[in-house]
Amino acid sequence: MKKIALKKGKENFLERKHPWIFSGAIQTATDAIEDGELVELTDFKGNFCAVGFFQPGSIAVRILTFQNRPIDQTFWDERIKKAIALRRELGLMSKENNICRLVHGEGDELTGLIVDFYNGVAIIQAHAVGMYDYREAISSALQKVMGTHLKAIYSKSAETLPERVDAKDEYLFGECETPHIAKEYGHAFSIDWTSGQKTGFFIDQRENRALLGSFSKGKKVLNTFCYSGGFSIYALANEAKEVHSIDSSAKAIELVDKNVELLDFEGTHHSIVADAVKYMNNLEDKFDVIVLDPPAFAKHKNKRHQAIKAYTRLNANAIRQVNPGGTIFTFSCSQVVDPYQFEKAVINAAIKEGRTVQILYHLHQPADHPVSAFHPEGEYLKGLILKVT
Ligand code: SAH
Repeated sequence: MKKIALKKGKENFLERKHPWIFSGAIQTATDAIEDGELVELTDFKGNFCAVGFFQPGSIAVRILTFQNRPIDQTFWDERIKKAIALRRELGLMSKENNICRLVHGEGDELTGLIVDFYNGVAIIQAHAVGMYDYREAISSALQKVMGTHLKAIYSKSAETLPERVDAKDEYLFGECETPHIAKEYGHAFSIDWTSGQKTGFFIDQRENRALLGSFSKGKKVLNTFCYSGGFSIYALANEAKEVHSIDSSAKAIELVDKNVELLDFEGTHHSIVADAVKYMNNLEDKFDVIVLDPPAFAKHKNKRHQAIKAYTRLNANAIRQVNPGGTIFTFSCSQVVDPYQFEKAVINAAIKEGRTVQILYHLHQPADHPVSAFHPEGEYLKGLILKVT
Protein backbone atom coordinates (compact mmCIF):
# COMPACT_ATOMS: atom_id res chain seq x y z
CA MET A 1 0.00 0.00 0.00
CA LYS A 2 1.37 3.44 -0.91
CA LYS A 3 1.93 5.89 1.92
CA ILE A 4 0.85 9.51 2.16
CA ALA A 5 2.46 11.63 4.87
CA LEU A 6 0.79 14.55 6.56
CA LYS A 7 2.62 17.85 6.99
CA LYS A 8 4.12 18.45 10.41
CA GLY A 9 1.46 19.47 12.91
CA LYS A 10 -1.41 18.30 10.70
CA GLU A 11 -1.78 15.04 12.63
CA ASN A 12 -3.95 17.13 15.00
CA PHE A 13 -6.65 16.69 12.37
CA LEU A 14 -6.78 13.04 13.24
CA GLU A 15 -7.53 13.66 16.90
CA ARG A 16 -10.84 15.09 15.75
CA LYS A 17 -11.44 11.79 13.90
CA HIS A 18 -12.64 13.66 10.82
CA PRO A 19 -12.82 11.24 7.86
CA TRP A 20 -11.55 13.74 5.25
CA ILE A 21 -7.95 14.87 4.78
CA PHE A 22 -7.62 17.95 2.58
CA SER A 23 -4.85 18.22 -0.02
CA GLY A 24 -3.29 21.21 1.78
CA ALA A 25 -2.49 18.98 4.79
CA ILE A 26 -0.41 16.55 2.75
CA GLN A 27 3.37 16.52 2.39
CA THR A 28 3.79 13.65 -0.10
CA ALA A 29 3.65 14.16 -3.87
CA THR A 30 0.62 12.21 -5.05
CA ASP A 31 1.11 12.25 -8.84
CA ALA A 32 1.72 8.50 -9.03
CA ILE A 33 -1.33 7.61 -6.92
CA GLU A 34 -4.52 6.63 -8.74
CA ASP A 35 -7.97 7.94 -7.94
CA GLY A 36 -9.50 5.47 -5.48
CA GLU A 37 -6.27 3.73 -4.53
CA LEU A 38 -6.07 2.52 -0.94
CA VAL A 39 -3.34 4.41 0.95
CA GLU A 40 -1.79 4.43 4.39
CA LEU A 41 -1.80 7.86 5.97
CA THR A 42 1.17 8.62 8.23
CA ASP A 43 2.38 11.55 10.28
CA PHE A 44 5.41 13.50 9.02
CA LYS A 45 7.72 11.00 10.75
CA GLY A 46 6.11 8.05 8.98
CA ASN A 47 4.06 6.69 11.92
CA PHE A 48 0.77 5.04 11.01
CA CYS A 49 -2.34 7.23 11.32
CA ALA A 50 -5.13 5.79 9.18
CA VAL A 51 -6.12 3.88 6.03
CA GLY A 52 -8.29 5.41 3.33
CA PHE A 53 -8.87 6.11 -0.35
CA PHE A 54 -6.81 8.62 -2.24
CA GLN A 55 -8.81 11.06 -4.36
CA PRO A 56 -7.40 13.83 -6.58
CA GLY A 57 -8.91 17.18 -5.62
CA SER A 58 -9.61 19.10 -2.49
CA ILE A 59 -10.49 16.07 -0.34
CA ALA A 60 -7.30 14.06 -0.87
CA VAL A 61 -7.92 11.11 1.44
CA ARG A 62 -11.21 9.66 2.63
CA ILE A 63 -10.50 7.64 5.75
CA LEU A 64 -11.97 4.19 6.23
CA THR A 65 -10.29 3.29 9.51
CA PHE A 66 -7.96 4.76 12.10
CA GLN A 67 -6.87 1.22 12.99
CA ASN A 68 -3.95 -0.54 11.37
CA ARG A 69 -6.01 -3.33 9.86
CA PRO A 70 -6.50 -4.78 6.38
CA ILE A 71 -9.44 -3.63 4.27
CA ASP A 72 -10.60 -7.16 3.53
CA GLN A 73 -13.99 -8.85 3.33
CA THR A 74 -14.16 -9.00 7.16
CA PHE A 75 -13.88 -5.20 7.26
CA TRP A 76 -16.84 -4.75 4.88
CA ASP A 77 -18.87 -7.45 6.64
CA GLU A 78 -18.41 -5.75 10.02
CA ARG A 79 -19.30 -2.25 8.83
CA ILE A 80 -22.35 -3.35 6.83
CA LYS A 81 -23.56 -5.55 9.69
CA LYS A 82 -23.36 -2.65 12.12
CA ALA A 83 -25.22 -0.31 9.75
CA ILE A 84 -28.02 -2.80 9.14
CA ALA A 85 -28.33 -3.65 12.84
CA LEU A 86 -29.09 0.04 13.47
CA ARG A 87 -31.93 0.09 10.91
CA ARG A 88 -33.38 -3.06 12.43
CA GLU A 89 -33.17 -1.50 15.89
CA LEU A 90 -34.99 1.56 14.53
CA GLY A 91 -37.82 -0.70 13.35
CA LEU A 92 -37.43 0.36 9.72
CA MET A 93 -37.25 -3.09 8.19
CA SER A 94 -40.68 -4.62 8.58
CA LYS A 95 -43.60 -5.61 6.41
CA GLU A 96 -45.24 -2.21 6.79
CA ASN A 97 -42.00 -0.28 6.32
CA ASN A 98 -39.54 -1.79 3.90
CA ILE A 99 -38.01 1.42 2.58
CA CYS A 100 -34.97 2.76 4.41
CA ARG A 101 -31.39 3.90 3.98
CA LEU A 102 -29.05 1.08 5.01
CA VAL A 103 -25.79 3.02 4.71
CA HIS A 104 -25.42 6.79 4.97
CA GLY A 105 -21.78 7.48 4.09
CA GLU A 106 -19.66 9.04 6.81
CA GLY A 107 -22.59 8.68 9.25
CA ASP A 108 -22.00 4.92 9.08
CA GLU A 109 -18.20 5.12 8.86
CA LEU A 110 -18.37 4.31 5.15
CA THR A 111 -17.26 7.51 3.47
CA GLY A 112 -18.76 8.04 0.02
CA LEU A 113 -21.18 5.10 0.15
CA ILE A 114 -24.96 5.19 0.04
CA VAL A 115 -27.09 2.05 0.17
CA ASP A 116 -30.87 2.37 -0.03
CA PHE A 117 -33.33 -0.48 0.50
CA TYR A 118 -36.66 -0.95 -1.28
CA ASN A 119 -38.54 -4.07 -0.25
CA GLY A 120 -35.86 -6.68 -0.92
CA VAL A 121 -33.71 -4.63 -3.30
CA ALA A 122 -30.58 -2.72 -2.28
CA ILE A 123 -29.30 0.15 -4.43
CA ILE A 124 -25.60 0.93 -4.00
CA GLN A 125 -24.49 4.43 -4.93
CA ALA A 126 -20.81 5.33 -4.67
CA HIS A 127 -19.70 8.94 -4.37
CA ALA A 128 -15.99 8.03 -4.38
CA VAL A 129 -14.09 5.95 -6.93
CA GLY A 130 -12.40 3.93 -4.18
CA MET A 131 -15.79 2.91 -2.81
CA TYR A 132 -17.03 1.97 -6.28
CA ASP A 133 -14.03 -0.33 -6.72
CA TYR A 134 -15.16 -2.28 -3.62
CA ARG A 135 -18.75 -2.74 -4.84
CA GLU A 136 -18.43 -6.52 -5.12
CA ALA A 137 -17.17 -6.80 -1.52
CA ILE A 138 -20.02 -4.50 -0.39
CA SER A 139 -22.52 -6.58 -2.35
CA SER A 140 -21.20 -9.77 -0.79
CA ALA A 141 -21.42 -8.26 2.72
CA LEU A 142 -25.03 -7.15 2.10
CA GLN A 143 -25.98 -10.65 0.97
CA LYS A 144 -24.34 -12.23 4.01
CA VAL A 145 -26.00 -9.91 6.51
CA MET A 146 -29.45 -9.83 4.92
CA GLY A 147 -29.73 -13.40 3.68
CA THR A 148 -33.09 -14.17 2.10
CA HIS A 149 -34.41 -10.65 2.83
CA LEU A 150 -32.38 -9.51 -0.15
CA LYS A 151 -33.51 -10.40 -3.68
CA ALA A 152 -31.34 -8.09 -5.75
CA ILE A 153 -28.54 -5.54 -5.55
CA TYR A 154 -28.25 -2.76 -8.14
CA SER A 155 -25.19 -0.58 -8.54
CA LYS A 156 -26.02 2.99 -9.64
CA SER A 157 -22.94 5.20 -9.69
CA ALA A 158 -22.67 6.42 -13.30
CA GLU A 159 -24.22 9.78 -12.32
CA THR A 160 -22.26 10.23 -9.09
CA LEU A 161 -18.72 9.39 -10.31
CA PRO A 162 -16.48 11.19 -12.81
CA GLU A 163 -17.18 10.16 -16.43
CA ARG A 164 -13.70 8.77 -16.99
CA VAL A 165 -14.45 5.99 -14.48
CA ASP A 166 -17.07 4.69 -16.91
CA ALA A 167 -19.14 3.26 -14.06
CA LYS A 168 -21.91 0.96 -15.26
CA ASP A 169 -25.35 0.86 -13.71
CA GLU A 170 -26.11 -2.84 -13.35
CA TYR A 171 -27.32 -5.62 -11.09
CA LEU A 172 -24.53 -7.12 -8.97
CA PHE A 173 -26.81 -9.80 -7.57
CA GLY A 174 -30.24 -11.08 -8.65
CA GLU A 175 -32.58 -8.88 -10.68
CA CYS A 176 -35.83 -7.09 -10.08
CA GLU A 177 -38.33 -5.68 -12.50
CA THR A 178 -39.07 -1.98 -12.13
CA PRO A 179 -41.13 -0.18 -11.04
CA HIS A 180 -41.14 -2.13 -7.82
CA ILE A 181 -43.67 -1.65 -5.04
CA ALA A 182 -42.31 -0.93 -1.55
CA LYS A 183 -43.93 0.42 1.60
CA GLU A 184 -43.21 3.39 3.81
CA TYR A 185 -45.19 3.36 7.05
CA GLY A 186 -47.86 1.27 5.35
CA HIS A 187 -48.12 3.48 2.22
CA ALA A 188 -47.28 1.78 -1.08
CA PHE A 189 -44.90 3.52 -3.48
CA SER A 190 -43.91 2.50 -6.98
CA ILE A 191 -40.13 2.91 -7.24
CA ASP A 192 -37.85 2.81 -10.28
CA TRP A 193 -34.16 3.08 -9.41
CA THR A 194 -33.09 2.63 -13.05
CA SER A 195 -34.78 5.77 -14.38
CA GLY A 196 -35.68 7.72 -11.22
CA GLN A 197 -33.76 10.52 -9.52
CA LYS A 198 -31.03 9.50 -7.03
CA THR A 199 -31.71 5.88 -6.00
CA GLY A 200 -35.39 6.21 -6.93
CA PHE A 201 -37.03 7.75 -3.86
CA PHE A 202 -36.41 10.49 -1.28
CA ILE A 203 -36.27 8.37 1.85
CA ASP A 204 -35.00 11.27 3.94
CA GLN A 205 -38.46 12.87 4.26
CA ARG A 206 -40.17 9.82 5.83
CA GLU A 207 -40.68 11.24 9.34
CA ASN A 208 -41.63 14.68 8.01
CA ARG A 209 -44.19 13.15 5.64
CA ALA A 210 -45.71 11.29 8.60
CA LEU A 211 -45.98 14.61 10.46
CA LEU A 212 -47.66 16.23 7.47
CA GLY A 213 -50.27 13.49 7.62
CA SER A 214 -51.31 14.71 11.06
CA PHE A 215 -51.92 18.24 9.70
CA SER A 216 -53.90 17.18 6.62
CA LYS A 217 -57.42 16.12 7.61
CA GLY A 218 -60.02 18.16 5.73
CA LYS A 219 -57.32 20.47 4.35
CA LYS A 220 -56.41 21.77 0.91
CA VAL A 221 -52.74 20.95 0.44
CA LEU A 222 -50.15 22.24 -2.03
CA ASN A 223 -47.08 20.00 -2.40
CA THR A 224 -44.37 21.79 -4.37
CA PHE A 225 -41.18 20.09 -5.65
CA CYS A 226 -43.13 16.91 -5.02
CA TYR A 227 -40.98 14.35 -6.95
CA SER A 228 -42.94 11.07 -6.66
CA GLY A 229 -45.52 12.64 -4.37
CA GLY A 230 -44.42 11.33 -0.98
CA PHE A 231 -46.03 14.20 0.95
CA SER A 232 -49.15 14.08 -1.27
CA ILE A 233 -49.76 10.40 -0.49
CA TYR A 234 -49.59 10.98 3.27
CA ALA A 235 -51.93 13.97 2.95
CA LEU A 236 -54.50 12.02 0.90
CA ALA A 237 -54.22 8.96 3.16
CA ASN A 238 -54.98 11.23 6.10
CA GLU A 239 -58.17 12.60 4.56
CA ALA A 240 -56.96 15.82 2.98
CA LYS A 241 -59.83 17.37 1.03
CA GLU A 242 -57.72 18.28 -1.99
CA VAL A 243 -54.04 17.90 -2.87
CA HIS A 244 -52.11 19.65 -5.65
CA SER A 245 -48.71 18.14 -6.53
CA ILE A 246 -46.22 20.23 -8.53
CA ASP A 247 -42.88 19.30 -10.05
CA SER A 248 -40.99 20.65 -13.05
CA SER A 249 -40.19 17.12 -14.18
CA ALA A 250 -42.92 15.42 -16.24
CA LYS A 251 -41.35 12.07 -15.34
CA ALA A 252 -41.73 12.86 -11.64
CA ILE A 253 -45.38 13.73 -12.17
CA GLU A 254 -45.92 10.37 -13.90
CA LEU A 255 -44.58 8.75 -10.73
CA VAL A 256 -46.98 10.80 -8.60
CA ASP A 257 -49.91 9.60 -10.71
CA LYS A 258 -48.79 5.98 -10.32
CA ASN A 259 -48.50 6.36 -6.56
CA VAL A 260 -51.87 8.07 -6.27
CA GLU A 261 -53.37 5.12 -8.20
CA LEU A 262 -52.04 2.73 -5.56
CA LEU A 263 -53.96 4.59 -2.85
CA ASP A 264 -57.55 4.27 -1.80
CA PHE A 265 -58.76 7.77 -0.84
CA GLU A 266 -61.75 10.09 -0.81
CA GLY A 267 -60.30 13.52 -1.61
CA THR A 268 -59.25 14.91 -4.97
CA HIS A 269 -55.76 15.08 -6.45
CA HIS A 270 -54.29 17.33 -9.15
CA SER A 271 -50.92 16.83 -10.83
CA ILE A 272 -49.15 19.84 -12.29
CA VAL A 273 -45.94 20.05 -14.32
CA ALA A 274 -44.60 23.52 -13.62
CA ASP A 275 -41.69 25.53 -12.30
CA ALA A 276 -42.64 25.72 -8.63
CA VAL A 277 -40.50 28.78 -7.97
CA LYS A 278 -42.49 30.79 -10.55
CA TYR A 279 -45.77 29.09 -9.59
CA MET A 280 -45.37 30.31 -6.01
CA ASN A 281 -45.10 33.95 -7.14
CA ASN A 282 -48.82 34.11 -7.70
CA LEU A 283 -51.08 31.26 -6.61
CA GLU A 284 -54.44 30.99 -8.33
CA ASP A 285 -55.84 28.92 -5.49
CA LYS A 286 -55.83 29.29 -1.72
CA PHE A 287 -54.27 26.53 0.40
CA ASP A 288 -54.36 25.51 4.07
CA VAL A 289 -51.11 23.56 3.95
CA ILE A 290 -48.09 24.26 1.72
CA VAL A 291 -45.00 22.03 1.38
CA LEU A 292 -41.80 23.61 0.04
CA ASP A 293 -39.12 20.99 -0.58
CA PRO A 294 -36.85 22.39 -3.32
CA PRO A 295 -33.65 20.76 -4.57
CA ALA A 296 -30.43 22.14 -3.06
CA PHE A 297 -30.32 25.83 -4.07
CA ALA A 298 -26.58 25.87 -3.25
CA LYS A 299 -24.24 23.00 -3.96
CA HIS A 300 -21.15 25.01 -3.04
CA LYS A 301 -20.26 27.60 -0.37
CA ASN A 302 -19.81 30.30 -3.02
CA LYS A 303 -23.54 30.01 -3.89
CA ARG A 304 -24.70 30.18 -0.26
CA HIS A 305 -25.63 33.86 -0.25
CA GLN A 306 -27.73 33.54 -3.41
CA ALA A 307 -29.38 30.40 -2.05
CA ILE A 308 -30.37 32.11 1.20
CA LYS A 309 -32.01 34.91 -0.81
CA ALA A 310 -33.87 32.34 -2.90
CA TYR A 311 -35.13 30.58 0.25
CA THR A 312 -36.34 33.91 1.60
CA ARG A 313 -38.24 34.70 -1.62
CA LEU A 314 -39.84 31.25 -1.84
CA ASN A 315 -40.89 31.25 1.81
CA ALA A 316 -42.18 34.83 1.60
CA ASN A 317 -44.45 33.74 -1.26
CA ALA A 318 -45.83 30.86 0.80
CA ILE A 319 -46.27 32.94 3.97
CA ARG A 320 -48.10 35.69 2.06
CA GLN A 321 -50.54 33.37 0.30
CA VAL A 322 -51.33 30.55 2.72
CA ASN A 323 -54.80 30.72 4.29
CA PRO A 324 -55.08 32.30 7.76
CA GLY A 325 -54.36 29.57 10.31
CA GLY A 326 -52.49 27.68 7.59
CA THR A 327 -49.40 25.52 7.94
CA ILE A 328 -46.18 25.58 5.94
CA PHE A 329 -43.69 22.72 5.83
CA THR A 330 -40.50 24.30 4.55
CA PHE A 331 -37.19 22.55 3.85
CA SER A 332 -33.65 23.02 2.68
CA CYS A 333 -31.35 20.17 1.69
CA SER A 334 -28.40 22.47 0.87
CA GLN A 335 -25.58 21.16 3.02
CA VAL A 336 -23.76 24.52 2.83
CA VAL A 337 -26.75 26.38 4.33
CA ASP A 338 -26.83 25.46 8.01
CA PRO A 339 -30.04 25.14 10.07
CA TYR A 340 -29.52 28.55 11.69
CA GLN A 341 -28.99 30.30 8.35
CA PHE A 342 -32.07 28.62 6.94
CA GLU A 343 -34.20 29.65 9.91
CA LYS A 344 -32.94 33.23 9.53
CA ALA A 345 -33.95 33.17 5.86
CA VAL A 346 -37.46 32.05 6.84
CA ILE A 347 -37.68 34.61 9.67
CA ASN A 348 -36.71 37.33 7.19
CA ALA A 349 -39.51 36.14 4.92
CA ALA A 350 -41.98 36.39 7.82
CA ILE A 351 -40.79 39.91 8.67
CA LYS A 352 -41.14 40.96 5.03
CA GLU A 353 -44.72 39.70 4.78
CA GLY A 354 -45.84 41.13 8.11
CA ARG A 355 -48.02 38.14 9.07
CA THR A 356 -47.87 36.40 12.44
CA VAL A 357 -45.72 33.31 12.10
CA GLN A 358 -45.06 30.69 14.76
CA ILE A 359 -42.40 28.02 14.43
CA LEU A 360 -43.99 24.77 15.61
CA TYR A 361 -41.29 22.25 14.80
CA HIS A 362 -37.65 22.09 13.78
CA LEU A 363 -37.26 19.20 11.36
CA HIS A 364 -34.25 17.26 10.14
CA GLN A 365 -33.11 14.10 8.42
CA PRO A 366 -34.24 10.82 10.01
CA ALA A 367 -32.21 8.36 12.09
CA ASP A 368 -31.38 6.11 9.14
CA HIS A 369 -29.45 9.15 7.78
CA PRO A 370 -27.21 9.47 10.88
CA VAL A 371 -24.61 12.20 11.30
CA SER A 372 -21.20 11.20 12.65
CA ALA A 373 -20.16 13.44 15.55
CA PHE A 374 -16.81 13.67 13.78
CA HIS A 375 -18.34 14.73 10.46
CA PRO A 376 -20.91 17.45 11.14
CA GLU A 377 -21.02 18.11 7.36
CA GLY A 378 -23.23 15.02 7.18
CA GLU A 379 -26.16 17.08 8.43
CA TYR A 380 -27.89 18.44 5.35
CA LEU A 381 -31.69 18.32 5.65
CA LYS A 382 -33.44 20.87 7.81
CA GLY A 383 -36.97 22.12 7.90
CA LEU A 384 -39.54 24.10 9.87
CA ILE A 385 -43.26 23.81 10.37
CA LEU A 386 -44.80 27.26 10.45
CA LYS A 387 -48.24 28.31 11.58
CA VAL A 388 -49.37 31.52 9.86
CA THR A 389 -52.20 33.76 11.10
N1 SAH B 1 -40.48 16.22 -1.67
C1 SAH B 1 -40.01 15.15 -2.51
C2 SAH B 1 -38.54 15.28 -2.87
C3 SAH B 1 -38.16 16.55 -3.59
S1 SAH B 1 -36.69 16.47 -4.49
C4 SAH B 1 -40.32 13.82 -1.86
O1 SAH B 1 -40.83 13.80 -0.74
O2 SAH B 1 -40.06 12.78 -2.48
C5 SAH B 1 -36.77 17.93 -5.41
C6 SAH B 1 -37.71 17.89 -6.61
O3 SAH B 1 -37.76 19.21 -7.15
C7 SAH B 1 -37.31 16.98 -7.76
O4 SAH B 1 -38.36 16.11 -8.03
C8 SAH B 1 -37.10 17.93 -8.96
O5 SAH B 1 -37.60 17.39 -10.19
C9 SAH B 1 -37.93 19.12 -8.55
N2 SAH B 1 -37.57 20.42 -9.10
C10 SAH B 1 -36.35 20.94 -9.33
N3 SAH B 1 -36.46 22.22 -9.74
C11 SAH B 1 -37.78 22.51 -9.76
C12 SAH B 1 -38.54 23.68 -10.08
N4 SAH B 1 -37.95 24.81 -10.43
N5 SAH B 1 -39.88 23.60 -9.98
C13 SAH B 1 -40.49 22.46 -9.61
N6 SAH B 1 -39.83 21.34 -9.30
C14 SAH B 1 -38.49 21.36 -9.36
